[in-house]
Amino acid sequence: MSFLDQMTKELLKRYGRLALGKPFAPAFLNILVTSVCDMRCIHCFFTEELDDKERKKNQMKTENIVRVSETLGGNLSVLVIAGGEPFTRVDLPDIARAFYENNRLESIYLMSNGQIQKRILPDVERILTECPKLHVTVALGLDGLEADHDRIRQKPGSWARAIDTARQLQKLKKRFARLDVQTCTCVMNSNQDRLFEWYDFLKHDLRPDKINVNYIRPPAARPEELNIDLERYRRLSQMILEDSRSGQAKNVYGGPNGAFKAAVDIYMHELIAKTQEEQKAQLRCFAGTAGGVIYDEGTVSSCENLPPIGNLRDYDWNFSALWYSEAMQMRRARVKDGCFCTHESNCYYPSLAFNPKHLVKIKRLERDIIAARKRVEAVEQQATVATASS
Ligand code: SF4
Ligand code: SF4
Repeated sequence: MSFLDQMTKELLKRYGRLALGKPFAPAFLNILVTSVCDMRCIHCFFTEELDDKERKKNQMKTENIVRVSETLGGNLSVLVIAGGEPFTRVDLPDIARAFYENNRLESIYLMSNGQIQKRILPDVERILTECPKLHVTVALGLDGLEADHDRIRQKPGSWARAIDTARQLQKLKKRFARLDVQTCTCVMNSNQDRLFEWYDFLKHDLRPDKINVNYIRPPAARPEELNIDLERYRRLSQMILEDSRSGQAKNVYGGPNGAFKAAVDIYMHELIAKTQEEQKAQLRCFAGTAGGVIYDEGTVSSCENLPPIGNLRDYDWNFSALWYSEAMQMRRARVKDGCFCTHESNCYYPSLAFNPKHLVKIKRLERDIIAARKRVEAVEQQATVATASS
């Protein structure tokens, strides 16, 4: 069953409301669960918040987030847990379970710098065990080869540890096929000269389930990082597209919707490059409608690029009360008016399924990825049989 088949009911419900101009519960939710982090990366957009000691006192408690899930007002397809470093929180499995039980959550993405292994490994295993149908992706922030990464992350030894975390998670995947290990590389000034060597390492050595690249966005702790060569980003994106189509890089999530989700990720790169080049919208953004963002201290926004609308603590942690407020309605009107940016998970990810012109092309790419996987799996199976009989 394809992604759309599984999601048809949810999407159709939302398409119907969209046609009537009525808002609906988000299908894609980003929660920045904490402003605590053991790193200070030079490209981080959240540095000011990480350094704000007062802010930490207002961090949402477990019961606040559980109440958000209870009042979300609908089922949730994708939950992205980010920060800060999410694994600094001891309640991540409880948060995942709340959305799994209350909102029939399909996929969770856990963004991590890969350092706190004593939390990451047991927590991921607990989530997989306690949520038996949930697809879990651990997205490890890796910004290049060892020297580049350690310099960008301002933490010697952090590359070796993050790579080791990736390899340990790959072992865990042997027991839990619903786990995907993803690398997430932010393309920036400091790593753009060695991007292709880095991609070679990912493709031939580490071989994660999914290779993701993000276009750096402001603010950055070191503003010079925002100066990047668009053509290089484009070339890398094209390489990823071709390797995914031919099966030379795995580059697909597991599960029945995995190829569709991968196709969305891969397809968006060229749109992002075009947006940057032409400085105009290439799709209608549905941030604030299909997708939303909740910050660590309870504020809610359509996306990380526009200021928050309000704080959930002023709405007794009732998400729907804030989501259907007049202020949010005004934000939707602003977004509808041709707003554009390069934000992968806030703009493109929640919006592409609601842009029919793009959806048709994504479905075509999904078919190519599935066909490539089948060819690769057939070759691997033949090789296994040959080895067993020799
Ligand atoms: S980019 Fe992530 S890991 Fe780096 S400082 Fe920011 S929150 Fe921490
Ligand atoms: S285009 Fe970007 S800035 Fe505008 S609403 Fe969408 S995600 Fe936010």
